[in-house]
Amino acid sequence: MTAYDYDLFVIGGGSGGVRSARLAASMGRKVAIAEEFRYGGTCVIRGCVPKKLYVYASQFSEHFEDAAGFGWQVGESRFDWKALVAAKDREIARLEGLYRKGLDNAGATILESRAVLTGPNSVKLLATGETVTAERIVIAVGGHPTPHPDLPGHEHCITSNEAFDLPELPKSILIAGGGYIAVEFANIFHGLGVETTLIYRGKEILSRFDGDMRRGLHAAMEAKGIRILCEDVIKAVTLTDDGRRLAETKTGDTLAVDQVMLALGRAPNTAGLGLEAAGVKTDARGAILVDDYSRTNVPGIFALGDVTDRVQLTPVAIHEAMCFVETELRGNPVSPDHDLIATAVFSQPEIGTVGLTEEAAAQAHAELEVYRAEFRPMKATLSGRAEKTIMKLIVNAADRKVVGAHILGHDAGEMAQLLGISLKAGCTKDDFDRTMAVHPTAAEELVTMYQPSYRIRDGERV
Ligand code: NDP
Repeated sequence: MTAYDYDLFVIGGGSGGVRSARLAASMGRKVAIAEEFRYGGTCVIRGCVPKKLYVYASQFSEHFEDAAGFGWQVGESRFDWKALVAAKDREIARLEGLYRKGLDNAGATILESRAVLTGPNSVKLLATGETVTAERIVIAVGGHPTPHPDLPGHEHCITSNEAFDLPELPKSILIAGGGYIAVEFANIFHGLGVETTLIYRGKEILSRFDGDMRRGLHAAMEAKGIRILCEDVIKAVTLTDDGRRLAETKTGDTLAVDQVMLALGRAPNTAGLGLEAAGVKTDARGAILVDDYSRTNVPGIFALGDVTDRVQLTPVAIHEAMCFVETELRGNPVSPDHDLIATAVFSQPEIGTVGLTEEAAAQAHAELEVYRAEFRPMKATLSGRAEKTIMKLIVNAADRKVVGAHILGHDAGEMAQLLGISLKAGCTKDDFDRTMAVHPTAAEELVTMYQPSYRIRDGERV
């Protein structure tokens, strides 16, 4: 008999929290999970899932244009924003239901309440005022878009949270940021017919990606008609009498737009969580500090997913949750493996990537072979669309291992998933070379780039 109300109490019903609670409950543990908003968390409710649905919606404008090259006459088309939002809402509600069903079937107690820590083993449910105790507590409360309070007029701006449910589709939008969210939403809004401008402080968008991908995507987005302003930031936003926004930039531009969206990173949801009461330590940004096994400094309290600000990705939170259950409840210590995480930017074209960028590989290895192909995708031959696919393999010359793979083009995210397995398995370029191509595909290029395009020795291209 445990002295606590629960074996495990999970705070936060997102990807990491639900996975921890469901697995633990299915093992027969007494588990409760509390969520203050909707089950599914950022990914399902206002992140990855609705984003991808909107990406699909935004691609139809190009599909309609491309159809003529294949003999199709497409009649007049019209986009209905409210219909898309409603369809998205139905799908999100269905998924939320599945999350709840999974928890329920496993035997977890589902609570609809904000939960705050009151001590190392106790949690207060704000909906009822009740305090419950648990042997172990998992904090998986995620993050939120940085509101950028230092920006005068930030209250007139939206973030990705609001972008999904705007009452009207804006005619024009200015998006601040050069990361995943800014780039993905710029492409979504543009595809839906919105006059779109991206403003980014750095020299080139997507600072953590391979240079070829960044330049290639920038060029492709501009060719479509997305305006990109680099090395500039918004200085102030004011509201006009007719409800539009005036954005002044540091370089002296003034942009009049219907909406300004800030996509300047996400911060952990740790404010008001009772961390001080329990003695849980955070870093300067408010992220909960954890060790290799997602343990906080307080015995019995664990944290995983975006609230720890390790890698802000859904599959990472799920993986961390599974490692937590394996370690703590199955007695088999497994620490999350954050190395070689394949990822995709759902821009148009997409970026799929795993491993080191050319720039990072050049720092890490004395000699690299870089295999690079740039070609027109087959579909573009008949559609007439001027677009390029870029593929790159970065190989460490010393042991022939492929240390980075980067793709800009259709379905790059799908390819990145499979390349992730190859890199994780430590495949060499020779393994790629002896793999038969799948023809005709774009991916076949990955196994038919036989000669290096160039080498990098001691950081210099030779
Ligand atoms: P990112 O960290 O990707 O990008 C933030 C952007 O904001 C960067 O371009 C950064 O510039 C810029 N920025 C930050 N602070 C300022 C500032 N004070 N002034 C001007 N610019 C600033 O964050 P996102 O918000 O785009 O996304 C959050 C996280 O969510 C990502 O890290 C990602 O892990 C995850 N995500 C994943 C997706 C996917 O897998 N497809 C999709 C969406 C989100 P700089 O680069 O110069 O630092």
